[in-house]
Amino acid sequence: MNDAYDRRLFAGVDIGGTTTQVVLCDDDLNVLDRAETATPADRGGRAMIRAALDVLAPLLEHTPGRLTGCGVGAAGVVDSATGRILVASDSFTGWAGFGVTEALEEALGVPAFLDNDVNAFLYGETSGGAVRDERDVLGITLGTGVGGALWSGGALFTGPHGAAGEIGHIPGFGDLLCSCGGRGHLETLASGRSIGARYAERTGRRLTAREVAQAAERGDEDALAVFRAAGDGIARAIVMTAGVVDITTVVVGGGVSRAWPLLSPVVLASLAAEPPVSGHPVRLVRSGLGSDAVPVGAAARARRELAVGAPA
Ligand SMILES: [Zn+2]
Repeated sequence: MNDAYDRRLFAGVDIGGTTTQVVLCDDDLNVLDRAETATPADRGGRAMIRAALDVLAPLLEHTPGRLTGCGVGAAGVVDSATGRILVASDSFTGWAGFGVTEALEEALGVPAFLDNDVNAFLYGETSGGAVRDERDVLGITLGTGVGGALWSGGALFTGPHGAAGEIGHIPGFGDLLCSCGGRGHLETLASGRSIGARYAERTGRRLTAREVAQAAERGDEDALAVFRAAGDGIARAIVMTAGVVDITTVVVGGGVSRAWPLLSPVVLASLAAEPPVSGHPVRLVRSGLGSDAVPVGAAARARRELAVGAPA
C-alpha cells in the first residue's frame, strides 16, 4: 500500500458571484487538483453548495488520501463562528442566513469552516503565499470592490463584528458615492468598478479596469491619473492602518493587482513621502497565490483548525 492513501486532504471552496472554485490540497497546502463551475447564485444556498459538492466529488474520487476538513471563502458578511452567511449582495438569492458549514458537514462528514473571502485570501497568503509565516500583515483585495483583512500576532484579527481591517469602506478619500451607499470611501478610487467609472468621468469613454490599465501603459494621461489616485488612496489607507495596529507588510491581491507595475510605484512613492508613525517602512508585496489565494486560504483555515494539538 502507498502512504498517499493515508494522507490528510483539505478541500477549499471559493464561492464568488459568478464562479465557484474548488481545490483539493495536501497537508502542506499543495494544490493536488482543482475544478470550477458556475455559481447558481439565483437558486439559493442549497443549490450553491450542491454545485460546489458536484465538482468536488470527482476530485475526491481520483485523489488518494482522506478528506479531513473543508474550508469555504464567500463574499459578503459571514459569521465564521456559526458558519452562516449574514449579509449577501443583491446578486445572491437565498444566501443570507444560509448555514454553509452545516450543509457541507452533513454532505462530507468532516468539519467545515466558513470565512469572508478577504479573510480567506489572507489565510492563503500567510500560510503558503507571499507573506508566509509573517505575523503582522494587512491584506488588501482590489476586485469589483476593495476588501481588507488583518493578520496580527500570527492570527487573523477579525474584531467583535468581523469588520477589522475593512479599509475599503473607511471615509476620507474624497466625496464620491460608494457602492455601499457611503461617501468618500477608498473603494470609490481603487476598485475595478471605480477605476472604470473614474476614467469615464474624465474622458466620457467606458472601459474596464483592465483596459484603463492598458491605456495607462500606453501613456494615456487620464488613465495614469486614475491609477495615481488609486495608488495614493491605497497608500493612505496603509499608513492609517499601520498607525492603529502596526504592521510590517501589506499583501495585495484581486484582479486589479494585475496592474502591479502601474500601482506599486505610486503606492511606494506615497508611502515614502508619508511613512508610518513607527518609522519602519512597510513592505508591499503582490499576492503569491493569485487566483488560488481564496480557495487555498479556505483550505488553510480548515488545516489550522484541525492541526494536531489545535484547541477544540
Ligand atoms: Zn463604501
